[in-house]
Amino acid sequence: MKYLTISILILLGTVLLISSCKDDDPCVETTWYEDADGDGLGNPDVSQSACSQPTGYVADNSDPDDTGSSSPEGTTPASAFDDFNTDAVTVSFDGNEITIESTGVPNHTSPYWDSSNSLYIDPVIADPNQMSPGKINTGSYTVTVPTSPTKAANPSNTGLGAIGIAVSGAPIFNDEEGPNISLSENVASGFDYGGGHMGPTGYHYHLESSDVEENTLLSHDDERLVGILQDGFLIYGRKCNATNDYPTDLDESGGHISSTQHSGEDEFYHYHIINEFYIGSYILLFGAELQGTPNAIQ
Ligand SMILES: [Zn+2]
Ligand SMILES: [Zn+2]
Repeated sequence: MKYLTISILILLGTVLLISSCKDDDPCVETTWYEDADGDGLGNPDVSQSACSQPTGYVADNSDPDDTGSSSPEGTTPASAFDDFNTDAVTVSFDGNEITIESTGVPNHTSPYWDSSNSLYIDPVIADPNQMSPGKINTGSYTVTVPTSPTKAANPSNTGLGAIGIAVSGAPIFNDEEGPNISLSENVASGFDYGGGHMGPTGYHYHLESSDVEENTLLSHDDERLVGILQDGFLIYGRKCNATNDYPTDLDESGGHISSTQHSGEDEFYHYHIINEFYIGSYILLFGAELQGTPNAIQ
């Protein structure tokens, strides 16, 4: 009995020792910042100190607008969609999402229209011998994007087919004419002044439009809106309204955060046509990687 009591006392002492050791563990309190909108960035004005991360709080304190609808890349200004051709494009807003539907039928003249169409013109810059077969017809393009798109952890390559929808309603393509076949100068010489031509799926743009008097709608060496890409970020012409000049702070995809003619003082991430020749004197609309998460254009 005596031995048992001693054993118990020793055991008890050991337990007490262990638990007191635990209590003595250094707890280094750090500051945690509230992340009300769940974007991983914390509000510098709302914080608490704790040893471990409290729910809804993050270590970061760089969210200037933790109101719940914001993203580090800002919110796409709704007024930008006023620039789209309403004959072809329908835009609907639903909570945190925007759905853009288009028939793909542009609202400008082109030799790619059937000659019976009122928008048909003889080629202005297109080499008739290099024009692709087919006439502009009605298609269907639909994409749903977030109102506040964010950059993805890794940029992604674009694929063949529509990568965005232009303000005219026609789809935007990248720099490829086929699987791993880059656009050639020969093929580009058959493009209309809109920077587009026909393909198996319909009329589409690859290039910036040309500076001809027939071109009254599409961006050429200016700050006009070009369209929206499938990651939800808008793409503007070569110049930015924020500086009335070519932006000098663009990332490798032609993107930056600034205000535009659509956003007042608000800044948000958007692309620009990169101000450099692709082949000959042709300038690509978008031949880079998408910085956001691509949504399917169906
Ligand atoms: Zn093409
Ligand atoms: Zn800009």
